[in-house]
Amino acid sequence: MVPIENRKISPSSKVINEEDIQIIYIPLESKLGYSYKPVVKANEYVCIGTTLGKSSVTSLPLVSTVSGTVVGFEDKYISNGKLVRCIVIENDFKEKYVNKPGKKTNINKYSKEEFLYILEGSGVTDMGGSDYPLYLKYQNKDNLNYLIVDATDYEIYKSSDSALVYNNAEEILEAMDAMADIMGIKKCYIAVNEDNTTIIKKLLKHIGSYPNIKVYPMINAYPSGHAKILVSEILDMDYNPLNKNTRVVVENVATIYAIYEALKYHKPVSDRYVTLAGPGFKNNCNYKFKIGTSLNEVLLKNDILNKLKNPLLIAGGAMTGKAIKSDDLIVTKDLHTILLLENKEEETLPCIKCGKCSEVCPVNLIPSLIIETKNKKYNANRCIECGLCSYVCPAKIDIREMIKKIRGDKDE
Ligand code: SF4
Ligand code: SF4
Repeated sequence: MVPIENRKISPSSKVINEEDIQIIYIPLESKLGYSYKPVVKANEYVCIGTTLGKSSVTSLPLVSTVSGTVVGFEDKYISNGKLVRCIVIENDFKEKYVNKPGKKTNINKYSKEEFLYILEGSGVTDMGGSDYPLYLKYQNKDNLNYLIVDATDYEIYKSSDSALVYNNAEEILEAMDAMADIMGIKKCYIAVNEDNTTIIKKLLKHIGSYPNIKVYPMINAYPSGHAKILVSEILDMDYNPLNKNTRVVVENVATIYAIYEALKYHKPVSDRYVTLAGPGFKNNCNYKFKIGTSLNEVLLKNDILNKLKNPLLIAGGAMTGKAIKSDDLIVTKDLHTILLLENKEEETLPCIKCGKCSEVCPVNLIPSLIIETKNKKYNANRCIECGLCSYVCPAKIDIREMIKKIRGDKDE
């Protein structure tokens, strides 16, 4: 792991509420490639939670995140770098819901079946980056012992999860406790950056009511909050999320908060915290956006940009994010960070066998050997795609991408 030195914003920095965006774009394809057929037409009135599209692959609904009028369809970029068709909605700011959110006082009392049903209906997906539907993840999980929640913000520049915890520590602990009761989980951990004392204090203030939850400080290094690293550090175990018999489940903290809102109020996921950072922004800051907000509109509305010679927009973190060709980028459930960096185009050279990629690999691979032989047998499947090898490579080889191709992964 490598230390994180250039974290520029304090975790307690205020969140700029940017939910008054006039036009919202709901992509008809998810990051994972689930495509939706629109079931609404131009001039139709929609509310928060109105079904906008249906998919033949998933029963997860595509819903509106604002109330207003459908005004048409447009192509916009999403976090995987793809240009996708979007339903365009003009927000009337009346915040009308299809089903008015109620309030459940004791969210620990749901059965597992009710839990899955609510996660599906509220459209809860992994908000840490993968966008995988939660109801599918928990469908076959029956013997869980441990829940680990990542609130480390381990990606360079990112602090959106810290801002979320700063403002919602009590709710996050309540949701973790409810998940423990519903899924029969015995012990929960919330992992935080050890240097993030503000967040640690926030959590400790409320933790007394939850003896089954422990705050776990992780070293301030990349990629300390990756699921495999967390399980290895906290439980001293190997973690394979695809193993049906695993006793551990790892979630990002933003997902936990979405679960809280779904269980407590039956609210569909309709907003999220996003870090805007990097030298291209005047101030690195956290924003609360409606899902479907166009970055372009935020930039037009606010004077927040610095001039860069050759700007590079990244959706996601500096190490694992995706370069986007335009600022026509839409905020989706998985998008936690938007970076604007100076694009230093560097020539790729042949490998000089320096061994630096092996030194930094957190899962002890020999990346240079994998890319040289193009052979999966050197444990390419154990790569966690952290990008550290590419980061340190003096020959500027994009080792992570090469390993992804060797594994035969689809480009996300
Ligand atoms: S080989 Fe994979 S796990 Fe190892 S440093 Fe590179 S991207 Fe990270
Ligand atoms: S860091 Fe780059 S140059 Fe060095 S061994 Fe790895 S691939 Fe080769």
